[in-house]
Amino acid sequence: SPLTSPLEIGPRKVLFGWKLRDISPLLKDPVAFKALIDLLEDHLRASFPRIDVIAGLDSRGFLIGPSLAQRLGVGFVLIRKKGKLPGPTESISYALEYGKAELEIQSDAVEAGQKVVVVDDLLATGGTMRAACELLVRLKADILECLVVIELKALGGAAKLEAIPFHSLLQYD
Ligand code: 5GP
Repeated sequence: SPLTSPLEIGPRKVLFGWKLRDISPLLKDPVAFKALIDLLEDHLRASFPRIDVIAGLDSRGFLIGPSLAQRLGVGFVLIRKKGKLPGPTESISYALEYGKAELEIQSDAVEAGQKVVVVDDLLATGGTMRAACELLVRLKADILECLVVIELKALGGAAKLEAIPFHSLLQYD
């Protein structure tokens, strides 16, 4: 659903008329939440014979990824904003729509060659997902797909992922 709180109305809406999208109503409704995980599970089972790990992006990827990983019988790993993960990490800074951010993954989160699906709630410019994939490439993971609930098509984020396969359940302009 579109957000309406003044706090949520950022430059994207003011300047360009795009709405920020919110998955909270989907999570709050147990039937809708189950349907969401069903759809994601069905898509992944139909697409890939083997998945080793689900990687979730801070923070709303953490709301979807663990349920999906449990359904598939695989592990879940966290890609977090800077400064949250203990132990040796790999980090990368990247551009947001407005500003900069940094992501981290624990250096032993995945093993070389493991088949990973990266999940988040939403793809906007694709910068966050792209940075997450660069971290996974550094760990020599085999990225099967980037998977999101919502894709904001007008921002062209899927193109930023270049050759990395990408799938979204819902698309908005
Ligand atoms: P990107 O890096 O693709 O521009 O931004 C995507 C990241 O920012 C995701 O982690 C996503 O959770 C968050 N994000 C950006 N715009 C929105 C939005 O409209 N709604 C929600 N729920 N998250 C957003």
